[in-house]
Amino acid sequence: MLDPIIKVENLTKKYGDFEAVKGLSFEVYPGEIFGLLGPNGAGKSTTLEIIETLREKTSGTVTVNGFDIEKDPAAVKKIIGVQLQTAGFYPGLNLIELLDLFAGLYNEEIDPMAILDSVNLRDKAKAKFKELSGGQKQRFSIATTLINKPILIFLDEPTTGLDPQARRNLWDLIRSIRDSGTTVVITTHYMDEAEILCDRVAIVDSGKLIAINTPDQLIDDLVAGGFEKPKEVKQANLEDVFIHLTGHALREA
Ligand code: ADP
Ligand code: MG
Repeated sequence: MLDPIIKVENLTKKYGDFEAVKGLSFEVYPGEIFGLLGPNGAGKSTTLEIIETLREKTSGTVTVNGFDIEKDPAAVKKIIGVQLQTAGFYPGLNLIELLDLFAGLYNEEIDPMAILDSVNLRDKAKAKFKELSGGQKQRFSIATTLINKPILIFLDEPTTGLDPQARRNLWDLIRSIRDSGTTVVITTHYMDEAEILCDRVAIVDSGKLIAINTPDQLIDDLVAGGFEKPKEVKQANLEDVFIHLTGHALREA
């Protein structure tokens, strides 16, 4: 197997007396879409932000592509893509101007139109962020993670609040980023999404790892343990009905 691109060992994080992350260990491999799943407050965002070098850990070790986040945060920052807080999307600037601004911060030469093309936002180049639909905003936010040509990006709940069409559109985008060679770490509360999109998932609860595997294997293990669904499973669900009736086309002007 390839060397892990992320190696988390015995990670803990305390906020005062409260331990939000309680000895997490897991590995992410190059080329994966890796899902970090868990109820609200499980410690997902804390864990991601520690790996991203944006938050300090309490104990444990984390390496990203072999670089220790504590000893070599600059080397880590250089190879990862992080979604910027939308608060940084100055209201007066259009998408090209925003990308140029961020590229300046990263000290990167970029072709803003090529980046907008990669997230299908070419026709919005002159629009301001606040004028975008929810799905477009998320696509732009993902575009900002790609500015420094990272080998690994982190997406924290990128599809929360999106309509079914926009959600599917983001899945395609995330897959295309993975297919171009960039490893993706994502959090989501939508289990259908994790099942379809993620190569492997880790389930955390109250700061502890509960399970880690491919979605398929986790489901097979549950069934092998005697689990049965209480209801008869239908051939489709309401989301299938919705997509069948309203189509896949994005609803955005
Ligand atoms: P998740 O992203 O899985 O919902 P978080 O990592 O945001 O979880 O939070 C994990 C726990 O840590 C929660 O109980 C949350 O309230 C707490 N927490 C997060 N950030 C802080 C902070 N800056 N100060 C104190 N507690 C925090
Ligand atoms: Mg969170």
